[in-house]
Amino acid sequence: MQDAVVIGGGPAGSFFAFELAKRGLSVTVFEEHPQVGLPSHCAGHLSIRSLRSLGLFPLPAGIVENTFSAANFYSPKGTKFSVHLNQPVTCAVNRARFDQFVAEKAQKSGAKFELGKRVQSLIVENNVVKGLTVAHSDSVVERVFAKVVVDCEGISSRLLRQAGLQALNPEALVYAAEAEVENVKYVEEHAVEVYVGKDYAPGFYSWLIPRLDGTAKVGLATRRGNPKEFLERLLRQHPVASKQLRNAKIKSIAFHAITLGGPIQRAYANGFLAIGDCASQVKPTTGGGVVFSLTCAKTATEVAAEALAKGDVSANVLRAYQKRIMNQLGFDVDVMLSARKAIDSFSDEKIDRAMRFTSKFGFDKALRDVDEIDFQGRTLLGMLRKPAAYATLAYLLGLYLPSLRL
Ligand SMILES: Cc1cc2nc3c(=O)[nH]c(=O)nc-3n(C[C@H](O)[C@H](O)[C@H](O)COP(=O)(O)OP(=O)(O)OC[C@H]3O[C@@H](n4cnc5c(N)ncnc54)[C@H](O)[C@@H]3O)c2cc1C
Repeated sequence: MQDAVVIGGGPAGSFFAFELAKRGLSVTVFEEHPQVGLPSHCAGHLSIRSLRSLGLFPLPAGIVENTFSAANFYSPKGTKFSVHLNQPVTCAVNRARFDQFVAEKAQKSGAKFELGKRVQSLIVENNVVKGLTVAHSDSVVERVFAKVVVDCEGISSRLLRQAGLQALNPEALVYAAEAEVENVKYVEEHAVEVYVGKDYAPGFYSWLIPRLDGTAKVGLATRRGNPKEFLERLLRQHPVASKQLRNAKIKSIAFHAITLGGPIQRAYANGFLAIGDCASQVKPTTGGGVVFSLTCAKTATEVAAEALAKGDVSANVLRAYQKRIMNQLGFDVDVMLSARKAIDSFSDEKIDRAMRFTSKFGFDKALRDVDEIDFQGRTLLGMLRKPAAYATLAYLLGLYLPSLRL
C-alpha cells in the first residue's frame, strides 16, 4: 500500500507530493483535469519573499509575467493612494505554468500523477479514511488504498465532508470574476491597481495586474450580486478603471469562489489531512491562497512523515498539523480577519476620506520598506514603530469604532 494519495494537482496537492516524495515516501496525485493548471482562474499575484523561503524562487523562465514594486489604490470616487516600495516585492505568475512547474518538481522527486482522474468519494471504514474511489474516463471506478489521504480539492470542499469535517462557511465566500484583457492604457508598468469600495466590489475589491505588453488580468470578487455585472460596471463607470480600460478587449473570463473565513478549525481526521482552499487556508484580506497553501502543505508533509514513521496516522497524531499551522498563521489570520471586518464596515465615503487622509500623514512613505505581504499581522507589528503608521491606524480606528455600536 502506498504512503499517501492526494486529491487535486493544484499548488497544495503538488507541493505536498513534492515534499513527501523528497523524503522517499510513495505518493500519487489524482487530478480530474487532463492537464495540471488548466483551467486557470487565478491572478497569480505572489510574494517573492514567500516563494523564496519555500524554495520556489527564482522561477524558471516563462512563469513570471511581471514584478511589482508599487500599488495604486483608488476609492470609488477616484481618490488615489499610492505606495512605492524600495524593491520589487511581488510577482505575477502564469498560474497554469506555475502549477505545472510545482507538479514537475514533484514528479522528478518520485511522485506519480494520474491526470484526468476524478476522485468520486473517500473510503471510510470505522471512522478511519482508508482510501478513495476514482472515476476513469471509461466509467470504470477504481478503489485506491493508502495510509494517508490528503484532500487538496480546492474550494468545492465536497470530499472534506465525507471525512466528517465541517464544510466551508458559505457566509465567508465571495464570488470572483477574472478576465484576461488586452489594450490597457495609463498604468504604471510595475504597479498593481486596486479599486476598493462597495459600488464596484461589495465585500472585496477589484484589481488590475498589468503585463508589459499592454495585456492585464482584471478581476474582482463580490459578496452579493453577479460578479460579471460588477466587472462590466467597473470597466464602464469607475472614474479611473474606465479610462485605463476604455479600449480594452476581454479575451476570456473565468468565475470562481474565494473563501475569506480563515483556516477551518479542524483540517485532519483519522488517516486524513486537508490542505489549501478546501481548508480555507487563504488570507482573509486579499483572498491570496497560494502561499498559505504551500506553507500548510509543507507542514502537512512534516506531520504525515512523522506519523508514517510511527505507524500511527490516527487523528491523535495528525492533530499536530493543525497545531503547527495555527502557530505559523494564527496571529496573522486573526489580524487579517479583524482588518477584513473593519474594511467591510466602511462606507465608500469613509474609504474616500481614509485615502485622502493617509497620504497627507505620510503613511505611503512609512510603507516603503515593507517586503512581507503574506503574514500581515507581523507586517503590522513592524509598522507600529513608525509615527505615520501609528497616526494612520489611530485615524482608521476612529472611523471604524462608531460602526461597532459599542
Ligand atoms: C479570481 C481569483 C484570483 C485569485 N488570485 C490569487 C492571487 O493573485 N494570489 C494568490 O495567492 N491566490 C489567488 N487566488 C486564490 C488561489 O487561486 C487559491 O487559493 C489556490 O489556487 C489554492 O490552491 P489549492 O491547491 O488549494 O486549490 P486549487 O488551485 O483550486 O487546486 C485544486 C485542484 O484539485 C482538482 N480537483 C478538485 N476536485 C477534484 C476531484 N474530485 N478529483 C481530482 N481532482 C480534483 C482541481 O481540478 C484543481 O486542479 C485567487 C482566486 C480567485 C478565484
